[in-house]
Amino acid sequence: MARGAKIYEGKAKILYEGPEPGTIIQYFKDDATAFNAEKKDVIEGKGALNNRFCEHIMTGLNSLGMPTHFIRRINAREQLCHKVEIIPLEVIVRNVSAGSMAKRLGMDEGVQLSRPLVEFSYKDDSLGDPLVAEEHIEVMQWATRSELESMIDMAFRVNDYLSGMMHGIGIKLIDFKIEFGRQYDEQDGMMNLLLADEISPDSCRLWDIETGAKLDKDVFRRDLGNLADAYTEVARRLNILPKGGTASGPQLVK
Ligand code: UDP
Repeated sequence: MARGAKIYEGKAKILYEGPEPGTIIQYFKDDATAFNAEKKDVIEGKGALNNRFCEHIMTGLNSLGMPTHFIRRINAREQLCHKVEIIPLEVIVRNVSAGSMAKRLGMDEGVQLSRPLVEFSYKDDSLGDPLVAEEHIEVMQWATRSELESMIDMAFRVNDYLSGMMHGIGIKLIDFKIEFGRQYDEQDGMMNLLLADEISPDSCRLWDIETGAKLDKDVFRRDLGNLADAYTEVARRLNILPKGGTASGPQLVK
């Protein structure tokens, strides 16, 4: 499938114009970055694995009636998606304290929250993606009240779906980040809200239920071992490992 002009290059993905109007091609790079790109590396196989995670999760959500931008995976590194106008917010759902929340509130990591919590950050690297309140979102007109309510509702639905999927393979979903976009529907003249961007171990915290081992991007952020091995382990448990393997697959013994 021919991809069009490059629209945008981010830290882990490149977006190209798609073959039809209103579509884009999302290309997953092997680059890993953390701390606002202060720490960088290339992790061979990460792009292909994240493309598979995303396909698996978005296909599942689509089949439950959740509107997402995902259309289909094209090849090892690329997927076809609906083009959307990204809402400049990171929507974070937390089940257990970790990362920036634990730091901000002086909590230990690993404390089960009394119920899932939704937080919003304003997407701006130069400001370090600051935490914002619903009030800021409405006053700054980053999203309407009705879009905010839909985002919260969809974020909890994604949390239920993803928590169950992970629980089934012995993994606790600690937290995750999602993004939303607007799509103009020419047929009914309405703006639809779609789940966009990606869902992968780059944007989730995943802890092994038995051992507590981290199977997400914290392995890279905190130098805890081999990131490709951690992602491969999650993909193996979900039975979505690319054929022929990507990262450290079985080795031929000579
Ligand atoms: N996250 C993300 N992109 C970001 C910031 C956070 O995907 O730019 C994810 C992160 O992987 C974790 C969740 O959102 O699963 C919550 O991250 P947190 O706010 O704790 O920030 P961090 O500690 O990663 O800086």
